[in-house]
Amino acid sequence: MSKPTPPKHIAVYGKGGIGKSTTTSNISAALAEAGHRVIQIGCDPKSDSTTILRGGNELPTVLDTLREHSKVRIEDISIRGYRDILCVEAGGPVPGVGCAGRGISAAVELLQELHIFDEYKPDFVLYDVLGDVVCGGFAVPIRDGLAQRAYVVSSSDFMAIFAANNLFKAIAKYAPSGGARLGGVIANGLIAPYAKSVVDDFVERTGTRVVGYVPRALVVNQSELYGQTVIEAAPESAQADIYRGLARSFAEDEETTLPHPLNGPELKAWAREWGDRIFSSESGEVGTLAGI
Ligand code: ADP
Ligand code: MG
Repeated sequence: MSKPTPPKHIAVYGKGGIGKSTTTSNISAALAEAGHRVIQIGCDPKSDSTTILRGGNELPTVLDTLREHSKVRIEDISIRGYRDILCVEAGGPVPGVGCAGRGISAAVELLQELHIFDEYKPDFVLYDVLGDVVCGGFAVPIRDGLAQRAYVVSSSDFMAIFAANNLFKAIAKYAPSGGARLGGVIANGLIAPYAKSVVDDFVERTGTRVVGYVPRALVVNQSELYGQTVIEAAPESAQADIYRGLARSFAEDEETTLPHPLNGPELKAWAREWGDRIFSSESGEVGTLAGI
């Protein structure tokens, strides 16, 4: 009998509200639709990573459960959602107490202690991680040899790019000692005419790449209101095919890069340059803000 292939652990980072959970859940759904066994672990104190995979059904978080019970079973902290995707939410600290990052390491440790990966035998484990600050705890999935690959969801907004650049710094630091490498950037919801150029320029400057452009689409909001992914609510839509494309890239494209993050002054200069360009294109003015 052939040995089962080990699961692929993949982390998805990005700033809060950028579309990590929506994108990750749709990728999980598309992977499951293609016949793969998937676990999605929400590593965001917001604890809503898997909402649209479980039709809004309640799921106690790992940290809440650990606080209330001394003995925790797999079924206490997971729920089977769309096409049997195993959903887990790490959870967050009690407001005003504790550290969200530490919570993620506690959650990941518990999942390992419970042998959740041996029990469920997933093909893919997706970590949906808040990436505003990639501090120690939030870096756990990419730091400790857990995930082999990480992606970052970004728009052309500076704070989203700033968060992506922080992830690149963390990857550049940890990859040489066994941490994850970068799969690429998922450009989400680009609207402004210059948005694609901003993201494309940023990846070029950092030696990375864009693995997919996900348009802003009403069907995403509509599906969310139904408590479902686009894959489930609108499987025939063009948006569903875009998520299927990303899922194929997660499954088949093993290419990774070691990013070259910009340092503080470089990032500032890069942003200023784009500020000038956007101002010129919007106003028809030529020149820099310094001339005003
Ligand atoms: P995060 O997990 O990064 O905090 P979410 O995935 O929860 O962000 O997304 C924030 C909001 O943006 C949600 O209401 C979601 O439906 C919406 N959204 C995300 N991506 C898209 C998109 N491509 N088109 C339309 N709405 C989107
Ligand atoms: Mg989220």
